[in-house]
Amino acid sequence: MFRVSLLLSLVLGFVAPATASAKIKVVVSLNDFAQLAREVGGDRVETITLAQPTQDPHFVDARPSFAVDLAAADLLIYAGAELECGWLPPLIRTANNSRILPGETGHLNVATVVPIKEVPTGNVDRSMGDVHPQGNPHTWTDPRNGLRVAVAITQRLKALDAEGADVYEANLRDFARRLGDKMREWKERLAPYAGAKVIVYHQSWIYFLDWAGFVEVGSIEPIPGVPPADSDVTALVEAQRGAGVKLVVGECCYPSDRIQFVAEQLGATALRPPAMTGADGTTTYIDFVERLVDLFVEALD
Ligand SMILES: [Zn+2]
Repeated sequence: MFRVSLLLSLVLGFVAPATASAKIKVVVSLNDFAQLAREVGGDRVETITLAQPTQDPHFVDARPSFAVDLAAADLLIYAGAELECGWLPPLIRTANNSRILPGETGHLNVATVVPIKEVPTGNVDRSMGDVHPQGNPHTWTDPRNGLRVAVAITQRLKALDAEGADVYEANLRDFARRLGDKMREWKERLAPYAGAKVIVYHQSWIYFLDWAGFVEVGSIEPIPGVPPADSDVTALVEAQRGAGVKLVVGECCYPSDRIQFVAEQLGATALRPPAMTGADGTTTYIDFVERLVDLFVEALD
């Protein structure tokens, strides 16, 4: 980190004064939040996404350029609930940008504006490797949460850029109308498959599954973030054999052989959906959720 700090101070010394521009600079951990910021902000904002949409968002290489991006940010948006705890906090410290610190208008922790599921009730032993110690941070696959985040972004942008308030409000209304229309359409398409049993590789799907009406009955990882031993996979298969599991779901950053094996053993379909906007050729946030609906319906049909 020392080397990163040194490099950053050198780079900032030359670059910072020249980067000033009229646009609100939004730096996000995940592309979903960038796309939502664009829906609301339009051309009044510019966005930079740190993680690649195909990466495991728990484990992202903290490149020095990320700290440079954060140093220039007016607004930081991240999933929170410790999703990015392994890589984002050191970057924020290095960036040394008071506008994006906790408590500031420019600091938006998504976990504080959406209801968090699977919050542990007892003590969580981090030495066991659990990467969801504050509950499940993969909130963005529920489109209702997409709208909640868009509302929060609107509030922040209005506070940061009062001149654009009317534009932000109008864009939010337009986005909410389009998303609402799509959600009604999606729910109609999903309704025939209500109650379908699903096994996940990593526990990153509960928000989508709950909204879509599916039931998560198990995960291949024994604990979120801990790769399964053969014995874990065997135990899961034996426990679920004959239970009518329809889908085994794991995004592309997880091993296909485990996912395929469990699906074959249970007579289920293996599904490898994009876990973030931008993966699998998806563009906007609405496009991303629609792709999920398409893939799940197709796999269950
Ligand atoms: Zn996770």
